[in-house]
Amino acid sequence: MGRRAAPVTSRRVVIVGAGASGIPLAARLGAQGDHVVLLEAGTAHMPDAAWTVRGGMPDLPSTWTYDAELVPGRPWRIARGRMPGGSTAVNGAVFQRPHPDDFASWAATAGAPWSYEACLPALRRLESDRDFPDAPVHGRSGPVPVQRTGADDPLTRAFLAAVVAAGAVREADKNGGGPSGVGLVPRNAVGADRWSVDRAYAPLLAAASVEVRPGATAQRIRFQGRRAVGVDVVVDGIHEFVAADEVVLCAGAIETPRLLLRSGVGDAAACDPAAAHVLARRGVGRNLSDHAAIDVSWRLRGTPPALGAAWTAAWNAPAGTVAGLGVEMLLAVLPTAAILTGDATATGALDLRVTLAEPLSRGAVTLGPASMVRYGYLSHDIERAALRAAVRAADGILRSSEMADLVAWVAPEPGPLGTALHSCGTARMGAAEDPDAVADAHGRVHDTENLRIADASLLPHVPSRGTALAAVLIGERIAELMAAE
Ligand SMILES: Cc1cc2nc3c(=O)[nH]c(=O)nc-3n(C[C@H](O)[C@H](O)[C@H](O)COP(=O)(O)OP(=O)(O)OC[C@H]3O[C@@H](n4cnc5c(N)ncnc54)[C@H](O)[C@@H]3O)c2cc1C
Repeated sequence: MGRRAAPVTSRRVVIVGAGASGIPLAARLGAQGDHVVLLEAGTAHMPDAAWTVRGGMPDLPSTWTYDAELVPGRPWRIARGRMPGGSTAVNGAVFQRPHPDDFASWAATAGAPWSYEACLPALRRLESDRDFPDAPVHGRSGPVPVQRTGADDPLTRAFLAAVVAAGAVREADKNGGGPSGVGLVPRNAVGADRWSVDRAYAPLLAAASVEVRPGATAQRIRFQGRRAVGVDVVVDGIHEFVAADEVVLCAGAIETPRLLLRSGVGDAAACDPAAAHVLARRGVGRNLSDHAAIDVSWRLRGTPPALGAAWTAAWNAPAGTVAGLGVEMLLAVLPTAAILTGDATATGALDLRVTLAEPLSRGAVTLGPASMVRYGYLSHDIERAALRAAVRAADGILRSSEMADLVAWVAPEPGPLGTALHSCGTARMGAAEDPDAVADAHGRVHDTENLRIADASLLPHVPSRGTALAAVLIGERIAELMAAE
């Protein structure tokens, strides 16, 4: 169970959201001696195997569901995890670090605490990398097991060979911080066994005596002036006030800005009119940054590999290689119908997923009612051109000689525009004078007291790879920064 936590101080920290960031933060703050109360709207669950995202579909008890709009006039519906573990309990279990270039760009806006070098100790602390335990950039005793799969799989090998033949760098360790290219994707899973954050950090949470309250939905942050004094919650239909010396929002990139807007923090016109207006920070709910995605469908000759993984390999192509902006190509090794439904016997087409890794467009999150998540995708010509080029490249890979023995059919047209569900930036960090910044480099909300954000809302923009690991890192990193205050 690990060693006992440090003695509990009198400071009571209330964290909203036991997801990708909230759980690591709670575990580390508890170990540092704070009295931590961790509020989570969802309740306990038994997560699905790591090869399916069935639990992450809209309109389930395990998810928050939102009306969304990808581009003006193109409605969509999205979901996020609503249970201990948050979206890490329902996602694709791809666990890629942001690239050092992402950190450099974040640090330029958010400050030096977000450089790659400054974040490396936290990156190492959160993981135990089963494939590269001795590499200096990796951890070998952290809570999240990280493993790559598919090295011996003929389909994965053919994809890697085809992409290298197309000119890509072979990236042996995608979490190693080297030049971007093609390689096996790190996963927070061991085969089909998913390690969501609630599972990975359970021993640390217990050792740190964190008070976890599943089924507690935060309604509003309560203020005295601009000082946060606690959170109004609903538990089983009963309203309750949870007092706090400090409130930390880890409700995710959609719910954190919405909670702020419901509490009177943000543009007055965007805030809940029923709440007293506390503070005008126009960045709350804006600057939504996410990856537009398009699937290129194809059919496999023979039986899909049974690796316990939905996705095994990715090509992260930097700007200027495949397209004018960075793009990612992610190889699914199971039929889409199986991944989405959890029915391992489902057959049909597989998808090679193409995403715009370095989007310029920004969207917004609002209180609703309609299109509460507006992605605003592809508002720049260069983005449309990049996505088209990436789709052409994906089509070329599937039709390459390296993959010819395995590919029975490639769809003549790509699928419709979608989203990778990697939302970030909706309450981003930056200097107090920056009109669109909401929080400083430690996540403290500007012009308030005792109120902090610690989740992917803080990131100036989406990383060029997935967001799950970045969200866990934020919990770990903010705990370090709080300890240093
Ligand atoms: C279906 C799906 C597949 C994905 N696949 C991948 C992938 O393979 N790789 C990858 O890198 N990324 C993936 N992502 C994205 C990644 O999982 C998320 O970016 C990351 O987990 C953060 O998610 P989140 O914003 O939902 O916040 P999380 O931190 O995961 O969740 C926030 C938590 O706060 C709780 N909460 C919210 N509001 C309140 C409230 N008012 N009161 C109390 N609790 C509250 C929620 O219930 C939830 O538990 C995927 C996402 C989804 C939805």
